[in-house]
Amino acid sequence: MPNIVIFGAPGSGKGTQSQRIAERYGLHHISTGEVLRKHISEGTPLGVVANEYIKDGHLIPDELMLQVLEHELDSNPATAAGVIFDGFPRTLVQAQAFEQMLEKRGSKLDMVLGLEVDEDDLVQRMINRGRQTGRADDNIDTIRERLNVYHAQTSPLRDFYIDNGKYVAIDGNPAPDTIFSNISSVIDAC
Ligand code: AMP
Repeated sequence: MPNIVIFGAPGSGKGTQSQRIAERYGLHHISTGEVLRKHISEGTPLGVVANEYIKDGHLIPDELMLQVLEHELDSNPATAAGVIFDGFPRTLVQAQAFEQMLEKRGSKLDMVLGLEVDEDDLVQRMINRGRQTGRADDNIDTIRERLNVYHAQTSPLRDFYIDNGKYVAIDGNPAPDTIFSNISSVIDAC
């Protein structure tokens, strides 16, 4: 049951690469951002709360996010070979609780694929995505705040995963096909 986290700044291509990884390796894809956007579009109580944070580019509080993740973990289809986590964890508190959650289920995190992309490209990619998809938080003010939040709260996780030997850096600048081929080589080697 390989468990893989795809890590990187907003706009680094986590969603695109996760979908392809899930497809090729038969993994269950959990995107916490997608889960929350679904709740928002369905107007659930969680969606109403989540929207207050997402529209300002802030993170959903850890306690709430951990409940969402537990629920997603328990809905993991038995047929999946493992899970690719996209957009989680995003804080040290989440990363530590995540280890315990997996351990409780007799499982563990195997690998963190870190997509590393130049900052200027991140902004442009998110602006383009906002134009194409109408995603509400892909506007310039929210993008800037999401990047601030990433640097303050999420990027320290890179060192956390380097220190525990799970981090594999992936150059996220080339074309998506090239990135995917590099990721596949890393996964195949394991
Ligand atoms: P994403 O689609 O991964 O870029 O996530 C969109 C938004 O959902 C983020 O900007 C956060 O507001 C929220 N979100 C997604 N995942 C998490 C998480 N693990 N912790 C806190 N907030 C999250």
